[in-house]
Amino acid sequence: MKRIGLLGGMSWESTVEYYRLANELVRNRLGGVHSASILLDSMNFAVMEKLQSAGKWQEAGTMLAGKASALEAAGADMIVLCTNTMHIVADSIERAVKIPVLHIVDATSARITQAGLKRVGLLGTAFTMEHSFYRDRLSAAGVEAIVPERSDQATVHRIIYEELVRGIVSDESRAEYAAIMERLVEAGAQGIILGCTEIEMLVTPADSTVPLFPTTQIHIETAVEHAFH
Ligand code: GLU
Repeated sequence: MKRIGLLGGMSWESTVEYYRLANELVRNRLGGVHSASILLDSMNFAVMEKLQSAGKWQEAGTMLAGKASALEAAGADMIVLCTNTMHIVADSIERAVKIPVLHIVDATSARITQAGLKRVGLLGTAFTMEHSFYRDRLSAAGVEAIVPERSDQATVHRIIYEELVRGIVSDESRAEYAAIMERLVEAGAQGIILGCTEIEMLVTPADSTVPLFPTTQIHIETAVEHAFH
């Protein structure tokens, strides 16, 4: 079994889920008291949040590349960057290591294609919804992503940064997300990407009339699969 290098802490609320799911998936596979082999670098999210809001992507990329390289030197066999947003600097990370960086968009688009869908809604941080890095990579894989209208985007982003990354999960916000997802369905979405690793703390399939693509779960399932090949 290969060792999974988690680049986490963005935020730790979702990194916990990566860690828990990886161990559960290995136990389901091997039984007994088997668990995953993991190296984790969990950073201080306040540092990253500051770089994000200042648009200092290059600096963020250099920092994450250094962490990925340290995980490789410590014996990781793959890098799993536990956030959708920071895949904006995936290229810098890929350049810094020889081991594979399992891209969250590739893992997610593979599932969407397997499900036979072509047009999906995308929920995530403003960076993920507004910048082109995420939608372009989906598009290259044959998946068209539509994003909520401006005011809905602001709501989705606000709930991530003011609530979910702080561990606050409320029925009110769940209802707001459900309404936004329904508007995406009316606009033609056949499924919804939960394109921020904290959203699945809030939203479940019961909140949606179309299939959901929860990126934390999909990403770590892909990593565990890779650990056995
Ligand atoms: N975890 C989130 C994501 O998947 C948002 C926090 C961050 O900006 O890294 O995009």
